[in-house]
Amino acid sequence: MFDVGRLADRFIEMCRVNTPARREAELVGLVQARLERLGLECVRDEANAATGGDSGNLIATLPATAEALPLFFSCHFDTVEPNPGLKVVMEDGLIRSDGSTILGADDKAGMAPLLEAIEYLVTSGEPHGLIQLVLTVSEEVGLLGAHNLDRSLVRARHGYVLDTGPPVGSIVYTAPTQDTLEIAIEGRPAHAGFEPERGISAIEIAADAIVHMHLGRIDHETTANVGIIQGGSATNVVCPHVTMWAEARSRNPEKLRFQVEHMRFALTNSAAARGGRVQV
Ligand SMILES: [Zn+2]
Repeated sequence: MFDVGRLADRFIEMCRVNTPARREAELVGLVQARLERLGLECVRDEANAATGGDSGNLIATLPATAEALPLFFSCHFDTVEPNPGLKVVMEDGLIRSDGSTILGADDKAGMAPLLEAIEYLVTSGEPHGLIQLVLTVSEEVGLLGAHNLDRSLVRARHGYVLDTGPPVGSIVYTAPTQDTLEIAIEGRPAHAGFEPERGISAIEIAADAIVHMHLGRIDHETTANVGIIQGGSATNVVCPHVTMWAEARSRNPEKLRFQVEHMRFALTNSAAARGGRVQV
């Protein structure tokens, strides 16, 4: 069975290694040595050439001892900051930091049990199919390790990513695709008291466009939102520039495209009606 004490020790040991994105090499080395001791074949890809980090992704392979679907399991090495000088507090059966730093459970709370499970599999002799660990770098800064993964090293076509939020035990089996829109609206400045008719208000273009957009919940798998609007400098100036950030998400790529097109259309329409310009 699992050795819970050993699992906790190793989890804490991993948390104590400070691993901001692009600085994961120390922990990668530690994990690689442990997996190699257990007989897994370890390869590091060259993702760091693209990420600018000090290590590539680690791909470890445990050969099959029985006929079964090849599986991969994935976690990431890096954590958000701040992490240096971590002080671990154990209380009521919980492991946490003292509050001055993060603990690093994301994603070491995924990786530690994974390594424990591999150790159990190897030492117990329980039969298993091909298992690959795809342990990535620089996840917190935009999934850079995963994006630059050398996929030729991953033979398993099905797998599990151990990296999600509470409640404990939840499984995420589908995720929406998301488009983020950065929108620049250009009007024309004018003194609002003397000659407002010479101006083209970027704020009015934005307002008109938003009024004509379907936003919020579009259907059971599609949502859209305008989240940030910036613009304007004084009440007596017809506002010449507005920048907006919006997003659309859908589990259906076709619907996502449609929603983004709809938002783009509302913007260009409103801009054209007032003689302004918009760039999405
Ligand atoms: Zn994570």
